[in-house]
Amino acid sequence: MSLSLIAKSIKASPTLKLNEKFTILKEKGDPVIHLGGGEPKSKAPMDAMLATIAHVNTGEVRYAPADGILALKQAIIRYTEEYYERKVKPENVIASSGAKQAIMVALQAILNPQEEVIFPAPYWVSYPDMARLIGAIPVPALPEDGTFYPSIKDITDRVGSYTKAVIINSPNNPTGAMYSEDFIAEIVEFCEKTDLWLIMDDIYHRLIFDGKKPINCFKFAKKLDESSKIIVINGVSKQYAMTGYRIGWAVGNKKVIEAMANIQGHQTSGPSVLLQKAAIGALNGIQSGVESLRTTLENNRNVMIDLLRSFDGVKVHKPDGTFYCFADFSAYEKDSNKLSEFLIDKVQVLTVPGKEFGLDGYLRLSYCGSIKDIQEGIERMKWALDPNSPNELYIGDRKLVRDWS
Ligand code: PMP
Repeated sequence: MSLSLIAKSIKASPTLKLNEKFTILKEKGDPVIHLGGGEPKSKAPMDAMLATIAHVNTGEVRYAPADGILALKQAIIRYTEEYYERKVKPENVIASSGAKQAIMVALQAILNPQEEVIFPAPYWVSYPDMARLIGAIPVPALPEDGTFYPSIKDITDRVGSYTKAVIINSPNNPTGAMYSEDFIAEIVEFCEKTDLWLIMDDIYHRLIFDGKKPINCFKFAKKLDESSKIIVINGVSKQYAMTGYRIGWAVGNKKVIEAMANIQGHQTSGPSVLLQKAAIGALNGIQSGVESLRTTLENNRNVMIDLLRSFDGVKVHKPDGTFYCFADFSAYEKDSNKLSEFLIDKVQVLTVPGKEFGLDGYLRLSYCGSIKDIQEGIERMKWALDPNSPNELYIGDRKLVRDWS
């Protein structure tokens, strides 16, 4: 079929595909455990729900401006003041359908075909395909020292005449690594000096552990006027457990925000006003849910890490934030796609292969679900992988027998 070159260069989102697989298995009645998820299980804040219902009840749900309604922009401005100590204007803010769209229109606004965007690896699955969607070139930068913490050299070594932008996602999906203040300072300084765009994907910035505090990239910026080329991305999906509401945003200079709004205006228009109202409710309402989600995730992380450390063949780094951990299973199987398939087939545990994030031999395991699922999921994995496991395992009243070595 004569599909476009771009269509042929893009894969389905592996994480969305996994969610579909989970739903199919679950509907069949299989006792499947999802350790591949990307969304908290807590409920959306009450203020978000009430704000949506109030607007539905007006009976008038209309078109909204392509870059978001003023009340949401004001809530984002207040958020930016609180977490980034930066006073911005409505012209510096765009609301999009999820942080995903905010990143996509930012890339469309700044990259030409063949230009390059650098990001540390392992990386969020969508960055490479987002770049390819506009004919740009994704340039992953795997830290040379074998850790999940890039050095400035890992980035600068890859900069060439086609480089236009850098994306930094900290804490990081999939590793949970939160980059140091020193690294953020260096990258801000480097991008300013070399006139590169810097996209800070801060979607997990408050979901951090061990007493860490969110890092404000603007603290290290010298250009704090309309010449700033820093674009900060955030949203309600993760911190407020509102993934299905699809509201994210970007804060940047007026020119780039205007370009992003023009692009978004032709693609989807602004996000639904109902969902924008929900986001306003979440941002301006009672905030205790964020802290309670954060502490739950920290506890879940501790449980998962302790369980993984009991495997002989797993190497795992303790995540600083997010709800993912990225563990090295290469002692059992170097091909992470094969391993992930094996775990679904044998013990019905869904994991995301590390290859999708740019590092084979690893699996991304999520701890955003219940403690029971974490414990049972990891125990099933251990049973499947450890040659010294007993021969049989019961899942409910189903008996599994090891017929592999
Ligand atoms: N950036 C990262 C690093 C993510 O993990 C995600 C969601 N998985 C997004 C952006 C997109 O968030 P949203 O659901 O708001 O589009």
